[in-house]
Amino acid sequence: MNRLECKTVRDLLPLYMDGICSEESQKLVDEHLAQCSDCKKIFEQMNMPVEAPITADEGKSALQRIKKKIRKKYVILAVITALLAGLWTGLSIFMQLVETPMSYEEVKVSVVQDKKTPTKYNLTFSGPSYEGLYGEAELVAENEQYEYLAEVIHCTSSMWSRTFKRKPMKNEVTMTFSSDPEDSVDGVTQFEDGREQKMRTVAAYYQATPGSPRYLLWVSDDFKDRVYRQIDEWNAVAGERIVKADQ
Ligand SMILES: [Zn+2]
Repeated sequence: MNRLECKTVRDLLPLYMDGICSEESQKLVDEHLAQCSDCKKIFEQMNMPVEAPITADEGKSALQRIKKKIRKKYVILAVITALLAGLWTGLSIFMQLVETPMSYEEVKVSVVQDKKTPTKYNLTFSGPSYEGLYGEAELVAENEQYEYLAEVIHCTSSMWSRTFKRKPMKNEVTMTFSSDPEDSVDGVTQFEDGREQKMRTVAAYYQATPGSPRYLLWVSDDFKDRVYRQIDEWNAVAGERIVKADQ
């Protein structure tokens, strides 16, 4: 191939590509490219799209896409975690929902005199863990200054406490009573005329369900006679089954 022609054609190529060269030049280039593989190669290379460098904007959006993907992953993870937590909470609530009263024999509760303060008595558990501990105050006697109360307590177990709280309690104290009149005021009722009536817990019973046997756990020394007499009367008259467990 003629070197001079090659040189001319290569000079013409930019104009040829833009379609702004004369008809004669275009014809010359067409014919030459059909025959000269070297020039054709150059033409093809010039025609190839130049790979545009990644602009800052495109880079940014690619980063955002990755960030979005990561965020999406985190969102999914958070949703799964929340679902699992919800499921677990729901299950635990469900397992705690149905409570069954625990019998006196099962619950292993007793009132033990405090080692440091002899007038103090601790309600102590040594049996299986319970789900709920319930107490109800019952009037024993009353005068102008005092309301003397007995605490009737009972515990419940649930599927939860039976399944997961299997370790027995070890002398766990949950309530303290006192036989010291000065130290055993649980609360004060205030009347409109300014009079005050103090509340004193003087006895404690365990009773799993209403109507089931009741066990006297503790009675304050100054109320022993009175409470024992009351228990004998109840047992005789009303056919109650109250057991003086602390005797
Ligand atoms: Zn050529």
